[in-house]
Amino acid sequence: MTETLKGACLCGGVEYEVRDPEALGYCHCTRCQRWTGSSLAGVVVAKENFKFTKGEDLVKRYESEFAPRNFCSNCGSSLYDDLGEKYFVAAGLMRDLDLDPSFHLQVAYKASWHEIGGDAPQFAENPPA
Ligand SMILES: [Zn+2]
Ligand SMILES: [Zn+2]
Repeated sequence: MTETLKGACLCGGVEYEVRDPEALGYCHCTRCQRWTGSSLAGVVVAKENFKFTKGEDLVKRYESEFAPRNFCSNCGSSLYDDLGEKYFVAAGLMRDLDLDPSFHLQVAYKASWHEIGGDAPQFAENPPA
């Protein structure tokens, strides 16, 4: 079944659609913490299944060392982390998302005050390929 989720940033200037979301998980790396203020809950999607439906001209890209970060230049909402073939799309922007989290990445770098709940697998860095 093809599932399409809609996302919108805080100001509503940017909207997008995600088709066939593959998984929901958390990244606890220090880069995501600085980008979002805590861990990044994200949806893994093939880049060809992500498209902007409004406000693409507002989207700015921060070229960080590993994965470029894309955000709304008006309100600052984190939109997605560009991993190349896959995007890691900020889950909080998609109000109809109902996947259960299935992984925690980069747990070795998580904030000491962040207690991870649930029983999704936790990986110190990335999961073994
Ligand atoms: Zn915005
Ligand atoms: Zn991260």
